[in-house]
Amino acid sequence: ARGEPQSNSQKPGIPGIKAIIAVASGKGGVGKSTTAVNLALGLQANGLKVGVLDADIYGPSMPRLLHISGRPEPVEGRVLKPMEGYGLKVMSMGFLVEEDTAMIWRGPMVMSALTQMLREVAWGELDVLVVDMPPGTGDAQLTMAQQVPLAGAVIVSTPQDLALIDARKGLNMFRRVDVPVLGIVENMSYFLCPHCGERSDIFGHGGARAEAEKLGIPFLGEIPLHMDIRAKSDAGTPVVISDPDGVHARLYKDVASGV
Ligand code: ADP
Repeated sequence: ARGEPQSNSQKPGIPGIKAIIAVASGKGGVGKSTTAVNLALGLQANGLKVGVLDADIYGPSMPRLLHISGRPEPVEGRVLKPMEGYGLKVMSMGFLVEEDTAMIWRGPMVMSALTQMLREVAWGELDVLVVDMPPGTGDAQLTMAQQVPLAGAVIVSTPQDLALIDARKGLNMFRRVDVPVLGIVENMSYFLCPHCGERSDIFGHGGARAEAEKLGIPFLGEIPLHMDIRAKSDAGTPVVISDPDGVHARLYKDVASGV
């Protein structure tokens, strides 16, 4: 049995980092990593110094999303230099182990890897470190949320009821560890047909906004389901970097301004 969750205020901060923000989701595949990377780039576009910690240890996405390969160099003792992509400082399990290795790790190894990526990396001065959390709201995620001195959390959800129920679990998880929820982003909110321009609410629409209102937390924005968002992410050039004045980049920058 686990004891009472440790209060957020008891955790030591990371010297040089002003605020750490988690991006979380109740389940996988809702666009958490896509949102995390574009949010980080949006914060950077707003003039902040930003880092990204890919804490999705079983399925790291940042090497691909930011088109970074190679291994971080040690700077001193165990301390590693973060990798860089589009001006972001980045650390990910994907840089440290082969793809299949972390899959078989047990909880304590995952925790020590996370602690190392957090505390034994020469992050330097950052205004914000964006943490891409592993999907879900189970014990593993709770433990991770406890390890990181979080200033707040952003929850990503699709409009579907099921995803929303999972998002609600995420809210409760962060409340248990005293981390303020900065708001909900509704991803895959609607679809605009590129041929006829007709809008389709594929997964329903507006559920996250209604849910946020009900729960009294900010609603940070709606991101449509769009080919470009997927294609640019797969190409390692997320929309905020590849099309900074485009409509999608603007939506992400608005989310960044809201957190
Ligand atoms: P998660 O981190 O929640 O598992 P990802 O960010 O990896 O989800 O996204 C899952 C897949 O959906 C990826 O292929 C990604 O490119 C795609 N995707 C995410 N958001 C959108 C969107 N708004 N429009 C189109 N594709 C998206």
